Amino acid sequence: MAKKTIYDAVVIGAGASGLMAAVTAARLGAAVVLLEHMEQPAKKILATGNGKCNYTNADQNLENYYCEQPDFIRTVLAQFSYKDTIRFFNQLGIRPVEKNGTCMYPESEQASSVRNVLLAEVRRLQVPLFLSVGIRSIHKLQNNNGTKNRGRQVFEIQAKDETFYAHACILATGGMAAKKTGSDGSGYVYAKQLGHTIVKPLPALTALLVDAKNQKLPAGVRIPCAVSLYADGKQKALERGELQITDYGISGIVIFQFGRIASRALENGQRVSVCLDFKPDMETETLLSYLTERFGSIYQKQKNLADGLIGFLPDKLIPVLLKQAGLRTDEHCGNVNRKQIARLTGQIKQYDADVTGVKGFDAAQVTTGGVPVREICARRMESKKVPGLYFAGEIVDVDGKCGGYNLQWAWSSGYAAGKSIAECK
Ligand SMILES: Cc1cc2nc3c(=O)[nH]c(=O)nc-3n(C[C@H](O)[C@H](O)[C@H](O)COP(=O)(O)OP(=O)(O)OC[C@H]3O[C@@H](n4cnc5c(N)ncnc54)[C@H](O)[C@@H]3O)c2cc1C
Repeated sequence: MAKKTIYDAVVIGAGASGLMAAVTAARLGAAVVLLEHMEQPAKKILATGNGKCNYTNADQNLENYYCEQPDFIRTVLAQFSYKDTIRFFNQLGIRPVEKNGTCMYPESEQASSVRNVLLAEVRRLQVPLFLSVGIRSIHKLQNNNGTKNRGRQVFEIQAKDETFYAHACILATGGMAAKKTGSDGSGYVYAKQLGHTIVKPLPALTALLVDAKNQKLPAGVRIPCAVSLYADGKQKALERGELQITDYGISGIVIFQFGRIASRALENGQRVSVCLDFKPDMETETLLSYLTERFGSIYQKQKNLADGLIGFLPDKLIPVLLKQAGLRTDEHCGNVNRKQIARLTGQIKQYDADVTGVKGFDAAQVTTGGVPVREICARRMESKKVPGLYFAGEIVDVDGKCGGYNLQWAWSSGYAAGKSIAECK
């Protein structure tokens, strides 16, 4: 009977974290194999940063990450920091370019560069990469009779056409966001079958659906805004940035940052709402005085209110805010009193809208939920329940804000898992 090959590790999922884990382990001398069920590896990387790949961020304040245990994140990021990411990709040929303050992109401004240098490194290290692999089951064998490494655990990964054996198994299958890139949630099923619990996966970094019946906001408007998110009346977050009003609700990076909080609060049956401040750079009193003066000016007072606000607010937003303030669009600016202007000021500074849902996984960039960090050793990324089983990337219940944090998490956790495997060999 032909002797079976037993790898040091099998990495399931050739996305950002899986490629990093395989490269790290192979560089340190481990025999690794990568299994990917799509026809192409790392499809998601191509979609990142609008095709430009915001691959890390120079501001690594832990507040940019969400994790039930902040020490967990700290330990993992300390092993492969933002600076290590820059150095790693620099060695592979990617020089960083900074945008929007601290977001880092490849000089080529092409996400494909990030994917391609990783794949070139996989080839240089001669790591076997199997594509279109349909995994049927993952078992940890009770004993490994017949193998030369008696005493070390062996995982048996049964695929459609082949069975793979390895002393360690890294689940780097991603979450459920953007399923068409390959992350279909199957990793959670394997983790569960092997003995883990799963924090219910929900969409994060996604747009919000707003009650269209009562608060019809005009689609197509883009406006700088300060947005507060509330759950059961308690403020949960405040962000500033460009708001995009769509036919279903509100979007833009400023809103994406709320996705995870809104998803979880709605899941818990809480009432979720947003308060939009359309003039975040003006205090309420300043705005009130400004509008009073504006409406009273010789150039405006003969105009109706709709015309009198042109240039100050996006055209489509003017009638909506006037209506919410109980004012007629055809009222003369010169006729409105201070109380009415105060009501309009209130709507501009505090426009409340109920959030009825979030855009689903297909539209989301990231998943919140997954394998709980309390079941994983942070230094090794190894399961505390199943020795030899490792996790990397989005499958873990860690997610970050928009801005390169999710990829940094994929690189750091992939590195930690790959290094641990090499240490055990
Ligand atoms: C549109 C979009 C834009 C984004 N932009 C950014 C950005 O600019 N910066 C940033 O930091 N983050 C960004 N993200 C998030 C970031 O891409 C992910 O967090 C990151 O790719 C997660 O890496 P991962 O390795 O955990 O999972 P993935 O990248 O999803 O990789 C998982 C891999 O596992 C494979 N797989 C899954 N199940 C199986 C299975 N059963 N068998 C075999 N293979 C399997 C999948 O096909 C896939 O190749 C963006 C995401 C999206 C969708």
